[in-house]
Amino acid sequence: MRVTTERDRCVGSGQCALLSPEVFDQDDDGLVLVLREEPAEALRDEVLQAADLCPSRSIRVHD
Ligand code: SF4
Repeated sequence: MRVTTERDRCVGSGQCALLSPEVFDQDDDGLVLVLREEPAEALRDEVLQAADLCPSRSIRVHD
C-alpha cells in the first residue's frame, strides 16, 4: 500500500490526522502531510477510512 495526497486540494479539515495519526499530520497551515508513504498493512483500514472521509478527496491509496 502506498499513500499519496493532493495538497493543492486539501482544505485542512484534519480528519485524516485524527483517524490515522501515524500516517497523516498537518503542517502549520493545516495542510496534510504524509508521515509514512508506505504504511504497514495493519493501518490499511484506518487509511482507507481517512481517504473515504476526506472532504476534498485529496487522499489516494495505491496497491
Ligand atoms: S482530511 Fe483531507 S482535507 Fe482534511 S486535512 Fe486531511 S487531506 Fe486535507
